[in-house]
Amino acid sequence: MAGILFIISAPSGSGKSTLVAQVRTLVEGLDFSISYTTRAPRGSETDGREYHFTSRENFQRMIADKEFLEWAEVFGKDYYGTALSALDHARAAGKDLLLDIDVQGAKQVMQRMPEAVSIFILPPSPQVLEMRLRNRSEAEHMTSEDVIERRLQQARNEVEKVWEYKYALVNDVLDQATAEMRAIVLAERGISDGVTAMAASCRTTTASLRLRAALHSFSVGAAALPPMDCPRA
Ligand code: ADP
Ligand code: 5GP
Repeated sequence: MAGILFIISAPSGSGKSTLVAQVRTLVEGLDFSISYTTRAPRGSETDGREYHFTSRENFQRMIADKEFLEWAEVFGKDYYGTALSALDHARAAGKDLLLDIDVQGAKQVMQRMPEAVSIFILPPSPQVLEMRLRNRSEAEHMTSEDVIERRLQQARNEVEKVWEYKYALVNDVLDQATAEMRAIVLAERGISDGVTAMAASCRTTTASLRLRAALHSFSVGAAALPPMDCPRA
C-alpha cells in the first residue's frame, strides 16, 4: 500500500461517517484518523472511537506543542484537529489514511501535503440535509435547534469550496455513493479494473449532472462550471 492520504470533507449531516464506515468494510488497508475535539460526545459516541474528546486547555497545549497536522475552530465554537501521530501510525502499518475534516482543515492539509487526494461529499439538497440532521438528532435524543441551524447555515459556505477538491460525490443513494468512494480509493491506488470510469465521473473537472443538480439546490453559482456539452478534461 502506498500510504495515500485521503481528505474527506462534507457539510455535517451529509452522511460522511456512514459512507466512510461502509467503504472501510469493502476496502482493506484504510486507516481512519480519530480526531481530537473539544465538543461534547453525541448520543452513543465513545471517547477514542469517533473522537478523542478533550478539554480546550489540553487542545491549546497540543497546538502549542505542534502536535497537529491541522486544526480548526469549526462552527465558531469548538476545536477539531488531526494529530500528526495518526499519519505516523498509518505509515508504520503500511496503510492509507482517511481524514474526515472540515474545509478549513482540508485547505491546510492540501497546502502542506499537495499529494493528498481530496474528496468532497454533498447531500443531494439542503432539504435532505436538514432531514438527515433532524433524524440524527432525534435518534441521539439531542435535538437542539441551535445546533441544527448553525450546521445548515454553514453548509452552503462549505459547498462553495467543492472546486478546491479533486473529487466530489453526491450521497443520495448510499450504495451508489459507497461504490463511487470505493472506486476513487482503488483508482488512486492504481487499480484500473472496473473502477476507472466511475472514479473519473466523480472528478470535479467532470462536473456531472448529479453534482450540478446538488450545487444548484444549494444556490451555488454556476460561474465556475464548464458548459454542459463541454466537460473539462
Ligand atoms: P456526517 O458524518 O456527514 O455528519 P452521518 O454519517 O452521521 O453524517 O449521517 C447523518 C444521518 O444521515 C444519519 O442519520 C445517517 O444514518 C443518515 N444517512 C447517511 N447517508 C444516507 C443516505 N444515503 N440516505 C439516507 N440517509 C443517510
Ligand atoms: P461533527 O461535530 O458533526 O462530528 O463534525 C463537525 C465538523 O468537524 C465536520 O465538518 C467534520 O468533518 C469536522 N472535523 C472533524 N474532525 C476534524 C478535524 O480533525 N479537523 C478539522 N479541521 N475538522 C474536523
